[in-house]
Amino acid sequence: MKRMPEALAEGVFDLLVIGGGITGAGVALDAVTRGLRVALIDKGDFAGGTSSLSSKLVHGGLRYLEHGDFRLVYEALHERGRLLRNAPHLVRPLRFVLPFYEKARVPAWKFRLGLVLYDILAGAGNLQRSRASTPSRLRQEFPHLSRKHLRAGAEYYDAQMDDARLCLEVLRTAALRGAVVANYVEATTVEKNGVQACDRVGGGALFVTAKQILNATGPWSDAVRRLAGDDGEPLLRPTKGVHLLAAHRGLSAAFLLLHPADGRVFFVIPWLNKTLLGTTDTLCDDSPDDLRVLPSDIEYLLSGYNKYFDPPLSESDVLGAFAGLRPLIRARPGDPSALSREFQLHASPSGLLTVAGGKYTTYRHMAEIIVDRVVQNLGLARRCRTRAFPLDGAPRQPWSSFFPAMKNDLTRRCRLDEETASHLVSRYGRRAVEVADYLDRDPALGHRVVAEEPDIFAEFAYQRDREMALRPDDFLLRRTRLGLFHPELLTKKLAWS
Ligand SMILES: Cc1cc2nc3c(=O)[nH]c(=O)nc-3n(C[C@H](O)[C@H](O)[C@H](O)COP(=O)(O)OP(=O)(O)OC[C@H]3O[C@@H](n4cnc5c(N)ncnc54)[C@H](O)[C@@H]3O)c2cc1C
Repeated sequence: MKRMPEALAEGVFDLLVIGGGITGAGVALDAVTRGLRVALIDKGDFAGGTSSLSSKLVHGGLRYLEHGDFRLVYEALHERGRLLRNAPHLVRPLRFVLPFYEKARVPAWKFRLGLVLYDILAGAGNLQRSRASTPSRLRQEFPHLSRKHLRAGAEYYDAQMDDARLCLEVLRTAALRGAVVANYVEATTVEKNGVQACDRVGGGALFVTAKQILNATGPWSDAVRRLAGDDGEPLLRPTKGVHLLAAHRGLSAAFLLLHPADGRVFFVIPWLNKTLLGTTDTLCDDSPDDLRVLPSDIEYLLSGYNKYFDPPLSESDVLGAFAGLRPLIRARPGDPSALSREFQLHASPSGLLTVAGGKYTTYRHMAEIIVDRVVQNLGLARRCRTRAFPLDGAPRQPWSSFFPAMKNDLTRRCRLDEETASHLVSRYGRRAVEVADYLDRDPALGHRVVAEEPDIFAEFAYQRDREMALRPDDFLLRRTRLGLFHPELLTKKLAWS
């Protein structure tokens, strides 16, 4: 995947996608696999917006059942199954534990009913049936879980991903199929037959000509509609979600918990050998370019964790924090957590199509519906091909046999330790060999960037050459995730060029 902004100005594209988050990436892949000539631009790095700031869950969303969003949960659970097959290196099953406490906002019977429904809605794609757990079993496996008023529990399975890497992988797959994709190219004016854009690296202006333009800019969607002269009512009512990262707390499963302050669902999730706490959910009018983690956000998440676990976490245990804006559609008034995760497709008078809303898990399904509409607008008849479509790094054999074989190969051939080899296979899938090839040229690239993390310098070289990483944040926050829990690296001079 090479950055060639000059290719954007060549000829007429069938579809130009503005926005390289997961929504735009999914649409680009769907469209290019139907034979359309596709371009995609992002004003910053790919996945630099919400798509690297999520809870990293590929899930139906047990809590949406409470709002009666059965269709959304059904679709998301089916997409979960497809993603586990199409990207097994980046999406993995994850066990969730639900402890039931006396006088909780959601009574145990309601959770049990929800879990039965969740199993049914997942159908043949269910990972494992949910099951009841006893307080003694919970206490045995999770000695740090609060016992006070603990009455029972349950467990179920969902899936987990690396959100920024999955978005990149979708884009990379689209680029390999012929889509022209470029980061750091900003749409500045949207016209009927194309977009005036600015190359934020090279500094030049360019015009991308396209028959159909799609605005897939997540929380920026209303601002980009205005670039096309559409001054209609805003489509979005964004909410801010903050996550914290702390050192691994020894949890062998994720926890779905109810916050003591407001009864909202929040998660404690093992991720990349760290603990991810999230999330807050507050209505937010701040610009997506200027989001901040406030002391009150940190306090809220720590108090949620500390209600359920001992020893408690304090601010000094927080390794990093990040905030994202949920691009939710203005569907229902009131409680932000009740705003819909459904999506809408809006046509501006200029012909610009805007996708508003949605969630990460359902990106492929959304893309299918959007490209159906694009194909219809173009007067074509082409069917979607992404339902069973392995992403670029996906192995051609089952993950259970591919993973140990590839890991052994890397440890033997490149003399990598087991942890580093496992890490490379889990991140790059069958492309791990391409990263390891850099070690043949320069064995020093096998050194770790930070002694206690498995990321090695060869990854930076690979990301620079093959994954369009340009700036320190691209390497540290999205291609690797080191900067999330080692923020000191963001200001250090590292060897990536
Ligand atoms: C806190 C939080 C937790 C979440 N957790 C989950 C979860 O666990 N599971 C799940 O399924 N969903 C989750 N979601 C929802 C999911 O993350 C989002 O729905 C999804 O990432 C939105 O992707 P997007 O591509 O629409 O937007 P974004 O990822 O924000 O991408 C929009 C892109 O448009 C670009 N852009 C903006 N203006 C321009 C311009 N003028 N020119 C060019 N490019 C432009 C931006 O740079 C940006 O990269 C969560 C969301 C939040 C906020």
